[in-house]
Amino acid sequence: MPEVPSYAMRVVDALEAAGHEAWVVGGWVRDALMGRPGHDVDVTCSSPWEETERVLRAAGIEVHQTGVAHGTVTAVVDGLPVETTTYRVEGAYSDRRHPDEVRFVTDVRQDLARRDFTVNAMAYHPRRGLLDPFGGERDLGLGVIRAVGEPRRRFEEDALRVLRAVRFACRLGFSIEPATQEALVACAGELDAMARERVGAELDGILASGRMAWALRHEFAVMAAAVPELAPMAGFDQRSPYHAYDVAEHTARVCAGVECACGGRPSQALRWAALLHDVAKPACFSLDASGRGHFFGHPEEGARVAGRVMGRLALPKSMTREAQALICLHDLPVRPVAASCRRMMSLLEAACPGRGRALAFALVDLKRADALAKAPACRGYAVELDAMAARVRAEVAAGCPLTVRELPVGGDDVIRERGLEPGPGVGLVLDALLAAVLAGELGHGREELLAELRMGE
Ligand code: ATP
Ligand code: MG
Repeated sequence: MPEVPSYAMRVVDALEAAGHEAWVVGGWVRDALMGRPGHDVDVTCSSPWEETERVLRAAGIEVHQTGVAHGTVTAVVDGLPVETTTYRVEGAYSDRRHPDEVRFVTDVRQDLARRDFTVNAMAYHPRRGLLDPFGGERDLGLGVIRAVGEPRRRFEEDALRVLRAVRFACRLGFSIEPATQEALVACAGELDAMARERVGAELDGILASGRMAWALRHEFAVMAAAVPELAPMAGFDQRSPYHAYDVAEHTARVCAGVECACGGRPSQALRWAALLHDVAKPACFSLDASGRGHFFGHPEEGARVAGRVMGRLALPKSMTREAQALICLHDLPVRPVAASCRRMMSLLEAACPGRGRALAFALVDLKRADALAKAPACRGYAVELDAMAARVRAEVAAGCPLTVRELPVGGDDVIRERGLEPGPGVGLVLDALLAAVLAGELGHGREELLAELRMGE
């Protein structure tokens, strides 16, 4: 077992010196046993929160009351927080969201029994060792997420645990133990009643794990319970020679594809875009006379649906806007030539000011993952997209302007060189200059643009 960080041991030791019992618990213990130290440290203790606060303050430790109704105070040692919570059990969950009461108890085992999964229900103390009444260490070895106690009851108490199970399975690369899996599917419908932002945070965590493809393939019912807009994707035959899979499997492949894209670690906006890029396909479907499927306007409609979904889940507005821009433009035809690449960057810049260049790489990554996830015939386009990423890099390095404001000439130059009065005509001239620069008909040096203005007089 790695050593418990000394800042957290100051909290444990101060409480024990005052005659109480304290353990490190939850995520730190789990991750440390997996050889991944670095998780924030939570402490569970026998003292009531008022006493915890008093003892820690007397030891010269800063304390904040961060959740005293649940027995939680946060100690801050060397600038690092240690959440410190009194042993507790939870009463009934009559609304299936919040425990009706929390009851403080004196036995750490009772506290461990209220926790969600065996791998999260272990306590550790450097002198007393590991306390693991539910086989968490065994389950870490087996690589399984298993509910503590009777799974059905545990998910009925708090439906968010359904998504937490999937998130931990994704994060740790584990599978879900069969009885837990059965209960999870039976209770997924209860996610509907959960606070939207808690659902949003768990889904964001599943995407951040980089294993959304696994979640879509193995836990589609849970994903569709959390985001009902995903449901029509399963089994939806696209009737297209370019698509070898239904929309759900295609989406899983795109999610896996963006994880190994060329831009390094994908942004969360790109991950959300991968998940939702084809969300409107089933709604925009029509068949032509030869029986081939078409999806007129699905990227634009998909961006609209994504805005609705991500807004409902209370995800950050800037991330939502970026995901929408990527979804909206994911079918934009691009070629690895400068003009095409600049046009793509300027469209992204218009949608998300200040982010056009960064988003261009994300869009190339999304388009490549999308092409590779289609039928084998589309692989050639994926190769072109590799060249596209290099082209975007070159354009960014060359400092090509993407908006009128970034042009090295402005309204004053137009008025002076063209002898115009101030007014809307000035803006039109600048728009035309930008269009010529983006198309590669003009360079973007100030002298060249001034000369162009003089010539057009
Ligand atoms: P991470 O914060 O890295 O996602 P964690 O294990 O610290 O992982 P938290 O959500 O911070 O998870 O919760 C801390 C601990 O509290 C968990 O390890 C678990 O023991 C317990 N816990 C948290 N949420 C629940 C819940 N909804 N039901 C039961 N126990 C929970
Ligand atoms: Mg935590």
